[in-house]
Amino acid sequence: MSQHDILICGGGLVGASLALALSQLKLNVALAEAVPFGSIEQPSFDERTTAISNGTQRIFSAIGVWPLIERAATPIKRIHVSDQGRFGFARLDAREQDLPQLGYVVVNRVMGEALWRRLQESSVKIYAPAKVSTLQKTDGGYEVALTSALAPNGYNLAAKLLVAADGANSVVREAAGISASKQDYRQTAIVANLACQKFHNHIAYERFTAEGPLALLPLGDARIGLVWVLESELAEQALRLDDVEFLTRLQAAFGLRLGRFTQVGKRFAYPLTLTQAAAHSADRLAVIGNAAQSLHPIAGQGFNLGLRDAACLAEVLADAQRDGGERFDPGSVEVLQRYAAWRREDRGGIVAFTDGLVRLFAQPFGPIKTVRDAGMLLFDLSPLAKDYLAQLSLGAAGKIPRMARGGAL
Ligand SMILES: Cc1cc2nc3c(=O)[nH]c(=O)nc-3n(C[C@H](O)[C@H](O)[C@H](O)COP(=O)(O)OP(=O)(O)OC[C@H]3O[C@@H](n4cnc5c(N)ncnc54)[C@H](O)[C@@H]3O)c2cc1C
Repeated sequence: MSQHDILICGGGLVGASLALALSQLKLNVALAEAVPFGSIEQPSFDERTTAISNGTQRIFSAIGVWPLIERAATPIKRIHVSDQGRFGFARLDAREQDLPQLGYVVVNRVMGEALWRRLQESSVKIYAPAKVSTLQKTDGGYEVALTSALAPNGYNLAAKLLVAADGANSVVREAAGISASKQDYRQTAIVANLACQKFHNHIAYERFTAEGPLALLPLGDARIGLVWVLESELAEQALRLDDVEFLTRLQAAFGLRLGRFTQVGKRFAYPLTLTQAAAHSADRLAVIGNAAQSLHPIAGQGFNLGLRDAACLAEVLADAQRDGGERFDPGSVEVLQRYAAWRREDRGGIVAFTDGLVRLFAQPFGPIKTVRDAGMLLFDLSPLAKDYLAQLSLGAAGKIPRMARGGAL
């Protein structure tokens, strides 16, 4: 049985980031990931484009991966929100907020490559491919069995603190007895890369249509990252269209702000649910990232929020280690209570904001649409409302972890 202080189950974007952050502390940290790195089966490091906040960028700097990502990251200078066929629209401008950019767009694969390259240079013990199959609570932590194609007898590990970072359908969260609520939006996100006639000018477009919201994210010099959310049946139909038909349909929904769409890459589908774990922690267990909550992508907040889970947990552990000296126990009740209390407020705000947007823009009725238009116009004119949204999308609402403020862990 190999002994570790902390075992992180799941080496996706959030679990891998936590492992790197913790490698800066004097701790024996292990990471178990089911899918071999570089495999096309890896669900976290796919061709999706993610809008990351400035707070996320700072956390990436603090854990040493930003220099490997920066070249492939496209700054967002403006966000343009519109409602198809209505007069209301709103803009958020980096210059108005005194910021060089509102955030960046990065392909998940690029983030994954950077995280795993740094992990391989770190002190973290990596088990991959190795899947968590069973876990057993002990007095001082957890015993965990991993199955692996690399080891016929698998691996048996013990840890004082177990971290569930194994995604929305977390087996670790479930085996530890934390329930999760699931709300099926009956919508599917279609994700693809596009080419179009006009330069994006570093503007991210969010457009609400009768069929669902769509986001067009600036990517590199000549590409656009599409996230198009449709009711699941309509999404299936759209996925079956050939490229020309698909682009014609998309053009009708988005209009000509970027000129004509000329090309679309491979399309991927993601069914959407809101999943929320009943708690962020249990005895000797912390839950982070999508295992704690998975959100609708309408506001581009899921990964940013999940990474703040990792940054907060790392900070609570770093402080407890510094204050506790020899007596420090990473799985202690105090550590886990501080972590869970910190995350409650941040998650509550982001879930209410994201789910509220989905509901508001799902309303087909006239009066609500008019309120929405008025709201957008008001938002466009109100510096206070813009400041609030800018704060939120910068990952700067509530108590912000040190690394997201540009400090060290
Ligand atoms: C269409 C779409 C667009 C999005 N856009 C944005 C955006 O613009 N901005 C934003 O902030 N967020 C966005 N998100 C959300 C973001 O993608 C997720 O929040 C993020 O990927 C969560 O990462 P994670 O590491 O927590 O979980 P996951 O990505 O699910 O990773 C979990 C990992 O655990 C591993 N695993 C699973 N089971 C086991 C096991 N038994 N043993 C060992 N390992 C296991 C998996 O192989 C995987 O590597 C979007 C999501 C979608 C669907």
